[in-house]
Amino acid sequence: MYDVAIIGAGINGCSVAHELTEVSKKVILFDMSGVSGGGSGAAGAFISPKFSKSGELKEILHDAFVYSMEFYESKFPHVLTKSPLLHIAQDEQASEILKAYKEQTTLELQKPSDELLSQLKPQAKKEENISLNAGVVNAEALCNALCKSATFKKAKVDSLVYDEGVWVINETYTAKEVVLATGAYETLIDEPYIKLRGVWGHRIDIKTSTKNSHSIHQFVSISPSKNGVLAIGATHNVHYHPQSATEPYNVVEGREELLEKASRTLELKDVEVIKDYTGLRSGSFDYMPMVGSLVISKETLLNKNIRFKVKKANYEEYEYYPNLYMINGSGGYGFVLAPYLAKILTEYMLSAKKISPRLQPARFFARWAKKLP
Ligand SMILES: Cc1cc2nc3c(=O)[nH]c(=O)nc-3n(C[C@H](O)[C@H](O)[C@H](O)COP(=O)(O)OP(=O)(O)OC[C@H]3O[C@@H](n4cnc5c(N)ncnc54)[C@H](O)[C@@H]3O)c2cc1C
Repeated sequence: MYDVAIIGAGINGCSVAHELTEVSKKVILFDMSGVSGGGSGAAGAFISPKFSKSGELKEILHDAFVYSMEFYESKFPHVLTKSPLLHIAQDEQASEILKAYKEQTTLELQKPSDELLSQLKPQAKKEENISLNAGVVNAEALCNALCKSATFKKAKVDSLVYDEGVWVINETYTAKEVVLATGAYETLIDEPYIKLRGVWGHRIDIKTSTKNSHSIHQFVSISPSKNGVLAIGATHNVHYHPQSATEPYNVVEGREELLEKASRTLELKDVEVIKDYTGLRSGSFDYMPMVGSLVISKETLLNKNIRFKVKKANYEEYEYYPNLYMINGSGGYGFVLAPYLAKILTEYMLSAKKISPRLQPARFFARWAKKLP
């Protein structure tokens, strides 16, 4: 019997495995495609804040950025490349947002080096930009390091049944608690209010004689170069979905698009693509991540004492699946959010520390139930 079974070994599942094994919990981790075999393995894995004017997502990403940089630096420095980040506006509207961000932020800003600016394309040079200390992590090495003390099983979880106070997985493994960290691939629990958007992404590693010391974000993300190799990535393809597509993803066209977009920002010389990574990232419908327990909609709706058509729902009135949790919906910021969210989730699991309502999956149940006839 395991204390906790985690389904999904992306950055979210592995971060939760790390927190729980640190406090000596017996953890089993399942993934049908291996550690970091989903969206996490495709990620450029840049650690950056969200450059927007205001909003809950900006606030949470600010806190998560500060927390995660410190976390990676202190616990996993071998997989973190600290590098200045240069974020360049794509257009007039984005320039205005960057200007406002610069005025409000408490993060320390810096001036990009003259050497870097001289490499930028003339149009990119003209646009508003912002630069600060940030980093990039090696996604695969990080996920493996995070889950090293958990038992890993390469298997698809098809069956998850709660029986006499214990979760039974694939009719074989038992665990007291279960964490669903399945990204955009599966939900496993069939609840009508849980909806996630899968956005397809493509990253390439290229050999190039262009030397670049910054993480540069404009139309795509470009990593600093190391031994003549740099990564270019984006999750821009909202039209392709591996589960519904009739044709395989066109890797050659994807490469061309990434290189064309990167070269609008930076002059890349002597390019040779050496590796492709593809995957889905999952986003929630309000863009905020989803962390916490899952409401059982059928049982909750049967409770005649609950008023669903209210402005401010009381999540404590709902019925929840016993010892079942979710961590998902990180959008394009999984590596920024995961250490921070895993801390929040495990503090809730271990000591019932409350999770902010804006992060709980229950908010989607409340919105869904309110609209029912
Ligand atoms: C091209 C690209 C670039 C990106 N760049 C960045 C970036 O620079 N910075 C950043 O912070 N984020 C970035 N992201 C987003 C980031 O990758 C995601 O937010 C993150 O990977 C989400 O992690 P996850 O653990 O939730 O999901 P995933 O990594 O997708 O993990 C879910 C795992 O669950 C497994 N699974 C699902 N169902 C089952 C089942 N039934 N049984 C067994 N296993 C199952 C899947 O195989 C998968 O491995 C990028 C994404 C892509 C695609």
